[in-house]
Amino acid sequence: MEKDAIERIELRLIENQVKSARSHGSGHVSLVVQRVIVRVLTRDGLEGWGEAAPWAPFGNVARGTLATLEAEIAPHLIGADPAGITACMAGLEGLAGHHEAKAAVDMALWDIAGKRAGVPVYALLGGKVRDALALSFSIANPDFDADLARAQEMFAGGHRVLKVKTGYLEHREDLRRLERLREGLEGLDLRVDYNQGLAVFDALRKLRDVERFAPTFIEQPIPRGQEAALAGLAAALDAPVLADESVYSPVEMLRAAGERWADCVSIKLMKCGGFGPARAIDAIAAAAGMPSYGGTLWEGGIAAAAGVHLLSTLPNCSLGAEFYMTGYSLVRDICPDPLRTGGGYVRAPDGPGLGVAIDLAELAAQTVAMVAVG
Ligand SMILES: [Mg+2]
Repeated sequence: MEKDAIERIELRLIENQVKSARSHGSGHVSLVVQRVIVRVLTRDGLEGWGEAAPWAPFGNVARGTLATLEAEIAPHLIGADPAGITACMAGLEGLAGHHEAKAAVDMALWDIAGKRAGVPVYALLGGKVRDALALSFSIANPDFDADLARAQEMFAGGHRVLKVKTGYLEHREDLRRLERLREGLEGLDLRVDYNQGLAVFDALRKLRDVERFAPTFIEQPIPRGQEAALAGLAAALDAPVLADESVYSPVEMLRAAGERWADCVSIKLMKCGGFGPARAIDAIAAAAGMPSYGGTLWEGGIAAAAGVHLLSTLPNCSLGAEFYMTGYSLVRDICPDPLRTGGGYVRAPDGPGLGVAIDLAELAAQTVAMVAVG
């Protein structure tokens, strides 16, 4: 084994409390989320951190991801050169799916590469094209009044981007919420996300009502698998349509671009499996004139930092990002907020690697299961 080879990989299933229940077009989260934290250790004493944040509507759950990492991924990486990120990730191509597990390992390897070079990950990716990403906060609390009060408070602090989760209540109630947001917050950059929540047959009629509130985009109004209908909606509506659940991979992005499924796209490391496919998706989207947006699942500081490092380097990612979990949703993360969240923006950390400082005592307190490989 080379002196800087990967020697050991620790995997921890952790449980976090979130500050309020969240409802979406699909998937309901109440008070506890589970994630998998990956720690990759090299023989010469470096460590890289990664995080998998699966969510059932996107195909995986944390205990399954832990088992996949232990049985199918970590054994392939022991003894490998951590600087060979592309080769390490290509070595996992025989395992279909499991994008969250792959993303966690990928970001841990980038963390090590940055620490070895003494530079932040964004510098390894070619450098930043923007110092801050506009932060989108999601209105998804079943108690709308509580979220509205929070939104007003954030707005007063400079925050301008809100995304309302629609499609899980009566259409009339969705319109009422949009009306209340538009009334109170002059200059708000308002987005709407259905999380696949509308039926295809009457989606257009409902979305024409929503369009009256001038949303910056309408996200994934109908289910994945209905892309011909999604393309029809994108063509019929004046408001841009954003594809989220319909686009996981570069291959799907290629179809989305060619068949004009949407006007813009949400990129999530947890959907695509790492920086390589995320950059491929963005490149295809850019070539098609479709700007990208930084999406997340239930990601804490490590994955959010990885996302901000990546998206800060992509000129086409002009629609902001939703990395609000660590700053606003988790009761306590396993690291102090690395994104310097404030004033409606998040910023890539400047320390070496991902620039995330793990609180080992907090990590231990949140761990419900741990395995080590190597
Ligand atoms: Mg979405």
